[in-house]
Amino acid sequence: MLDTIFKVVWVIGLILASVPRVRYTRLYRQKRIADDRNTGLDIGLDMLLVALPALGMFFIPLLYMLTPWLDFADYRLPTWASLVAGLVGAVTFAVALWLLWRSHADLGRNWSPKLEVMEEHSLVTQGVFRHIRHPMYAAHLLWGIAQAFLLQNWIAGWAFLVSSLPLYLVRIPREEQMMLEHFGDEYREYMSRTGRVIPRP
Ligand code: SAH
Repeated sequence: MLDTIFKVVWVIGLILASVPRVRYTRLYRQKRIADDRNTGLDIGLDMLLVALPALGMFFIPLLYMLTPWLDFADYRLPTWASLVAGLVGAVTFAVALWLLWRSHADLGRNWSPKLEVMEEHSLVTQGVFRHIRHPMYAAHLLWGIAQAFLLQNWIAGWAFLVSSLPLYLVRIPREEQMMLEHFGDEYREYMSRTGRVIPRP
C-alpha cells in the first residue's frame, strides 16, 4: 500500500518536472546559436551523456512499475522506516522541483539542452544562480536522491543517480570551460563567489 503511494508521488513529480522542460524547449527552438560545442565526436558523447540519465529517470522506473521484472531487487523496510523514507523522498522531490522551476525561470532564454552559447547570450548571476553555478544539475541530483527514497528497489530507486553521474563528471567541467572562454574574467569572478552544485551562502 505505502509503496503504491510513493510510486504515485514519483509519477506526479516526474510530470511536474517535465512542465518547465517542455516550455523552455519551445523557447530554445527560436534561438540562434553563436558557439556550438557539439561537433564531431562530441555530439555522440553529449547525446550518450543525456540519454543515459533518461534511462534511469524514466525507462527503468517505468519498467519497474509496469512489469514484475525488477521485483527481485525490492527491499522490504519496516513500515515506520518505509514511511520515513517516503516522506524524506517526497520533501526532497518538492525541493528539487522548486529548484528546477526557479533555475529555468532565472536562466530564461539562455537555457539550452546542449553545450552551446546563443547569440545575445547573457551571463546569469542572479536568483538561484547567485549562490550556485549549476542549480539545474543540483535539482536533478536532488531528484535522483528523492527517487532512491521513494522507489524502494535497488535498481529502479538508484538508477537515476547512478546513470546521471557521468553527465555531471564530464559535462560540468566542459560547460565551465566554455563559459570561461566566452565570458572570461566575468565568469572567473562569478566562479570565485559561488558553489558548483552546493550553494555558497
Ligand atoms: N549548468 C546550468 C545550466 C544548464 S543548461 C545549471 O545547472 O543550472 C546548459 C546551458 O546553460 C549551457 O549550454 C550554457 O550555455 C548555459 N549556462 C550555464 N550557466 C549559465 C549562466 N550562469 N548564465 C547563462 N547561461 C548559462
